[in-house]
Amino acid sequence: MDFLDKIQHKFTAKEEDLILRALGSAQRAHAGQKRFSGADYIVHPIGAALILAEILPEATCIAATLLHDVPEDTKTTLADIKKLFGEEISRLVDGVTKLGKVRLRNSKDEYYVENLRKMFVATSKDIRIILIKLADRIDNMRTIEFVKKEKQKRIAEETLEIYAPIASRLGIGEWKDELEDSAFKIAYPKEYEETKKMLESALEGKQIAVKKLQKDLAAILHTEGVKYENISGRVKRVYSLFKKLKKYDGDMERIYDLVALRVITKSTAECYAALGAIHKHLQPLPGRVKDFIALPKPNGYRSIHTTVFDADKNVFEIQIRTEQMHDQAEKGIASHWLYDESGKTSGAAMNLQWVKDLQNAHEQLKNPEEFLRALKIDFFKDRIFVFTPKGDVKDLPEGATPVDFAFDVHTDLGFYMLGAKVNGKMVKIDYELKSGDMVEIIKSKKPVAVSQDWLNYAKTSGARSRIKRRLAERQGGIFNLLKKLANKK
Ligand code: MN
Repeated sequence: MDFLDKIQHKFTAKEEDLILRALGSAQRAHAGQKRFSGADYIVHPIGAALILAEILPEATCIAATLLHDVPEDTKTTLADIKKLFGEEISRLVDGVTKLGKVRLRNSKDEYYVENLRKMFVATSKDIRIILIKLADRIDNMRTIEFVKKEKQKRIAEETLEIYAPIASRLGIGEWKDELEDSAFKIAYPKEYEETKKMLESALEGKQIAVKKLQKDLAAILHTEGVKYENISGRVKRVYSLFKKLKKYDGDMERIYDLVALRVITKSTAECYAALGAIHKHLQPLPGRVKDFIALPKPNGYRSIHTTVFDADKNVFEIQIRTEQMHDQAEKGIASHWLYDESGKTSGAAMNLQWVKDLQNAHEQLKNPEEFLRALKIDFFKDRIFVFTPKGDVKDLPEGATPVDFAFDVHTDLGFYMLGAKVNGKMVKIDYELKSGDMVEIIKSKKPVAVSQDWLNYAKTSGARSRIKRRLAERQGGIFNLLKKLANKK
């Protein structure tokens, strides 16, 4: 089968020509090279390009993916690529090459940080570089069985620690799921098997209930006159279950979304109509309605989630979203290109707040330890939503405290903070905020004295860097005062 026939997209003749020229060049450059599996090397760039094309069928990016290993592994240089394919493709290939070959996390934290730094510099230049790198990693994970055992484990760990979280932050659900489950199995085989068994036994006998609820839902929506496209079921992924079980002390009873039913509609209004109809007939579990349409997740995810009891008191999660929201949940950031009518494909157009935050963190945090801390907390942690008394929404990492909230609202609020109320009650300053909390900061008239232990309560890099600066200024202030006094003598 022809390479282009495997891509579900109609390219222009010019685009087809570009892709086929890139394929030909890569084929010639890698001629004679073999993969660990014994296959011709070219199967890898082709595999990666097909993975990429599924979420981003864009000719330039596909061509760059086909060429991504050429400068590193063959006699053809980046200058050759530039001559043959122009500035944009050579820039993308260069970016991927600079991200480097597999970096090993367990060598030293500094290497890990350096690797992440590179990743973010590349991200801020053009997000397509990261997309190519992720497609490259997915193809490598699919053929990892041919790699030496001890190397397999390191690659899998790195995939879990760096690549899957990045796919998640970019909102690419499809890639995140595949990277997580394939890497989890190799990095932690025992835990993988245990979790998989738990999942399978919990699902036993549920299939019939799922089928029945699917029918019931259709009937409910029909009775209430709510239009929808389709209803499907999805089973929780093994790694996702593992993470949740860790959070809930291994208690399966507290996991409500082992099986979720998805209702896909054509319009947002129909999503809310469906929610109303479902709650009218099936008892919802209190506190479990999440409206990610009104409050999208930071990675752009939109959907309504609710948890309901069926007639037999089984608990199910129901996810309601439009076709477009579903597409975005699978393809994340890449789907924005498809919906962007201007047809521009500049990575700079992606105005994600967290990308900006990270660039700032990257510039400000010269100390690798602090940078790593910022990444782990600001970037890889799950996010919570809290409210100001006026109803504005702030998104913060899990584990954030009123101190983080105050500095997120305004630097001044942080330095004038006397205490905090959450949902109307006074809380300790180290109180862990939860999604949906309404937070009110009690302000003093004058700035309060900042002490070293504020750093114990501040989790976000924004709050921490402001506190540190203030502490340094104060020390500088005392130092200057002493100097002045000394000069007077
Ligand atoms: Mn590669």
